[in-house]
Amino acid sequence: MAYLDHNATAPLRDTSRLAAERAFALGGNASSVHAAGRAARALIEDARGQVAALAGVTPAEVVFTSGATEANMLALWGAVQGAADSLEKGGARITRLFVSAIEHPSVLANTAAIADRFAGLRLETIPVTSSGVADMEALKTGLREGKGRALVALMAANNETGVIQPVAEAAALAAETGALLMVDAVQAAGRIPLPRADYLTLSAHKIGGPQGCGALILKPGVPFASPMAGGGQERGLRAGTENVPGIAGFGAAAAIAATETADPALRDRFEALLREIAPDVAVFGAETPRLANTSYFALPGIAAETALMALDIDAVMLSSGSACSSGKVKRSHVLAAMGVNDDVAACALRASFGWNSTQADVEAALKSITNLVARVRSRAAA
Ligand code: PLP
Repeated sequence: MAYLDHNATAPLRDTSRLAAERAFALGGNASSVHAAGRAARALIEDARGQVAALAGVTPAEVVFTSGATEANMLALWGAVQGAADSLEKGGARITRLFVSAIEHPSVLANTAAIADRFAGLRLETIPVTSSGVADMEALKTGLREGKGRALVALMAANNETGVIQPVAEAAALAAETGALLMVDAVQAAGRIPLPRADYLTLSAHKIGGPQGCGALILKPGVPFASPMAGGGQERGLRAGTENVPGIAGFGAAAAIAATETADPALRDRFEALLREIAPDVAVFGAETPRLANTSYFALPGIAAETALMALDIDAVMLSSGSACSSGKVKRSHVLAAMGVNDDVAACALRASFGWNSTQADVEAALKSITNLVARVRSRAAA
């Protein structure tokens, strides 16, 4: 088996599983005052320290969530509502939302909904270059020329292409113009150093922790009114009984991820051999800094869905750039924003490597791709 889909989810690390199992065995509710409750609370606070260390922040800035989708939702709605609530204290409403065209759907869907819900708030898309890099000139012009407080949403690295985004530049522009910055750092964690932002989001399962757990990192003093009210957990910032096993597993994964950066050796070998098998292969974003673990490519004339099924028969697991829902194939919005034509985008496949990937995985994937290309090409020639 060759599992090359770490950007979708990374296999659970053993230390994470053990930490989660210990928390399951304990079973207390962290809000309870008795011994089991206090033990659960201690696990959460240990994990908070581990996640804070990964992000280079203080533990008090970490808010545990059910994943990055929720963290992105909380950050965006919480920022806009928090700024609206700050008027009587001399704050200012957010009236402009700058969002890169290649954000994860959990950002794009929420920013669209926020623009519908808050009258007078304008949504502006930050375009990307053909290499998949958010255009900082467009952001600079937008931020400098417009009026009113702005919130910028720019991911640290894209989940499809792996292309690293100019977050430091966006942060400098935000500081210059008084804008707030929200960074989805889900794919960057454990691969490149994490940036500092007003709002930053993480997901446990992309770094070898359990699915269904994530974090929102809130810089002290930023506007935030949580849309998730209830029992006051997470200092009232995210209500709901904490997922103690998930959080403990997240902490254990974060402790390892904090010591790692991605090594490009497997990805580079994969791409070099891919070019030998299929010289017409298109590798997206190869000309710009990318995450070392991600290869996003198209084998012209071989539809991604066909390729995925053929590879799956050989127990080789990759992702496609398209999503199939209700029988219709939806092309990647990331490739569309990069100006890649639909015929090429329909062939887009992503191989993403991670902590347990090996040379044998690369060989297995390439063997399967070689057979697939030979079959398709011989059929086409007949
Ligand atoms: N943001 C990015 C960039 C992602 O890749 C993902 C997961 O695919 C998410 C957010 C959502 O994370 P979660 O699965 O924890 O909700």
